[in-house]
This record gives sequence, structure tokens and C-alpha cells, in this order.
Amino acid sequence: MTESWLPVEKNSNFPLENLPFGIFKTATLTPRAGVALGNYVIDLSALYSSGLMNELGIRENVFNKMYLNDFIGLGKPVWQSVRTFLQTIFHKNNPSLQDNPNLVKHIVIPAEEVQMLMPVYVRDYTDFYSSEEHATNVGIMFRGKENALMPNWKHLPVGYHGRASSIVVSGEPLHRPKGQTRPDDAQPPVFGPSKQMDFELEMAFIIGKGTQLGDSVSTEAAEDHIFGMVVFNDWSARDLQKWEYVPLGPFLGKNFGSSVSPWVVTMDALAPFKTEGPVQNPEVLPYLQYTGKKNYDIHLEVQIQPAGSDAVTVSRSNHKYLYWNMAQQLAHHTINGCNLNIGDMMASGTISGPTEDSFGSMLEIAWKGTKPVDMADGSKRTFIQDYDTVIMKAWCEKEGIRIGFGEVKTQILPVKA
Ligand code: CA
Repeated sequence: MTESWLPVEKNSNFPLENLPFGIFKTATLTPRAGVALGNYVIDLSALYSSGLMNELGIRENVFNKMYLNDFIGLGKPVWQSVRTFLQTIFHKNNPSLQDNPNLVKHIVIPAEEVQMLMPVYVRDYTDFYSSEEHATNVGIMFRGKENALMPNWKHLPVGYHGRASSIVVSGEPLHRPKGQTRPDDAQPPVFGPSKQMDFELEMAFIIGKGTQLGDSVSTEAAEDHIFGMVVFNDWSARDLQKWEYVPLGPFLGKNFGSSVSPWVVTMDALAPFKTEGPVQNPEVLPYLQYTGKKNYDIHLEVQIQPAGSDAVTVSRSNHKYLYWNMAQQLAHHTINGCNLNIGDMMASGTISGPTEDSFGSMLEIAWKGTKPVDMADGSKRTFIQDYDTVIMKAWCEKEGIRIGFGEVKTQILPVKA
């Protein structure tokens, strides 16, 4: 771990090697861009105003904004120059900021004083379905073992267009949705609160470089279009979803809310954690082929915390299990000429691993309600109950360096009256 003059605990999510970007406010500061370092948040707007950043040639204060989009729009060389600059001035041997305590007071804010906000304005949201284990589990439950994967699944990264307006940041509670379900196939549908509220353990990447309508992005160029990643809880009302999804796919069972972690970890910070993906058989079409390592070794964890009780870990998975990687997802998304915009969010699909303790949704963990999970207070869960809080964490770890995402934590409230 590179030493900073700011104290950074050994197991911190946010060492100098990480430096994730986010948007925060405090009791006295308006929303602005920040970077996490140890238990501190670096106020990039104040740092910009101090003049210390002048050497980077950024012509206006893109950090004094509600969202990171304008900063992201300056392009990858600028993201990288800000990252390198921060690694330099917060290095333990660098005096430029360290020796100016009055300035430090304005720029370095204790993390407990900030409230994190949505990091980006999400233009469009796409959700993939890229975990073979998850697709297989769901397929077995709904179609049986013989037809678990649909014929297209190993030939293209299946996805759908989701709803951007209802993506919220960690800490914002969501209400249980109400709607139509058909619990008994022999009876007409009924209306009421969802009885099968579920989470989906996912990660999302944020588009950092747009394209023109008609353009396609190759698997080789894809990672240049990605600004960074967040943990993503793609909430699902399974009973609404089951009744509505034929033939056009997910709608009200999905679009009432998705929750994201507030810190965007950059692809530069994640680069040391690249790893091989699963072997793809049958061979994919040329536009989906790729070379090099395109998967990432990111540990994932899900906890459920009933009101007034301790959290219990219900899943431990890993981003590396994904059959389709982000480069392939982007190549597929754009092969027809669909354009990308800065701030678009693309989620992985539920990330389930090969073992039961690595499944990424309650649908799978409690296997359609047949295997209830024990909570710390003695109660059981097959789906999420009112006032439960779901916490998802993600981190990479290697050779004493931890690149953490922090968490996305959301409480489910009863149906809104
Ligand atoms: Ca999903």
C-alpha cells in the first residue's frame, strides 16, 4: 500500500491505489465531486479552487456540480491526470498540500460529515443477464433442467432496457411495490403488495465516452468507453415479474427501483485485478470474440438485516464468474448502431456463483421459497420483508492492497399509502 500523509487504515477500502469518485454534500457544502481516501473525502471543488490543480489545465470547475457527468466528459486522459495528481499530492513525501494546514482543513473532510449522493446523472439504463449460473438456476425453476438455458443464451449477452429514473443511491429507502399478480393459475389475477420482493446482486459500469448513432464499439475498444463501476442492487418483485413478463420482458416488476453504491471505482484502480473469464463454448461470433483478460476478480457479499437485529450474510459471490464480460456486452449493445451517452449505466445481471452459498438472489438462495434462510433474530426469510435492510459489498484484494467499493444499503418500507 502506498503511504499517504493522511492516515489510511490497513484494511481500508480506499487506499491511494483506489481513489474512487463520487458526489457528496455536507451540512454547509452544496453537492460537489469528491474522492475517497481512507476515512476522508477530498473535496475536488475546493482543491480546484485552491489553484493547486492548475497544472492539469482543466478550464472550468467541473467538480462543483450535482453529478460527475461533466468531469467524465473531459475524457480518460483527464480522469487519469486527476488520479495521478491526487496520488502525488497525498503521497507521504509530498509537502505541497500537507504543509498548508489551513488549506487541508478546506479540502480534506472527515467521511462521517458527508452525505453521499447519486454519482452520475443516468441517461439510460441497460440490464444484462450474463451469469450462466443465475440463468441456469432460474431456467431450472421455471422450465426444468432440460431447457434451463434458452437457445440464444450462449450466443449473445441477453439484455433489456431498464428504467433510469428510479435508480437511487445507497441509504435511500424504497417502498414495496404493489401491482397485479396471479398466484393461482386457475384464478383471475389479483391486486396488492408484492409478496415476493427480491434483490439481485449485480455490478454496473458507467459509460465514460459516448458514440454516434450508427457506430459500433469493438471488444478491443470497449474498455476505453467505461469510466468505472459501482455495486448495483437490481430490485425485483418476482410475483409481478412472473405474471407480466411474456412476451416483452421485465416491466413493473423491475422499474420501481434499483440501488447503487455511491463511489465509482475507476477501471485504472481495477486493472490489477483482471482475470480470465469462463471458457466460452460454443465459439462466439467474430464481433463478440476478444483477446486478453476481460473479467475482474471482485469479491461480492450480500447481507440481510431485519429491523432491530444483526445482519446475516446470505451470499458470497464474485464478478469473475460472469460468462459474458463488459467488453462483450458493449460490443453487442452497439453492434446494431445503438449510441452510447456519458452516464449510461449497464448492469451485469444477477451474479451467481457455482455453489449454493454464492447465489445472487433470494429466488435462488431460498429456491423459490422452499429453503427459508435463518435470520439472527430467529425469523426466517424466503423473500425480503418490510423494514429489512439489504446490504451489498464489493472489494478486490491482492498483495495487501484492497480496492473497495464500500456498500449499497437499502431499507424496504411498506407499500406507500
Ligand atoms: Ca437484473
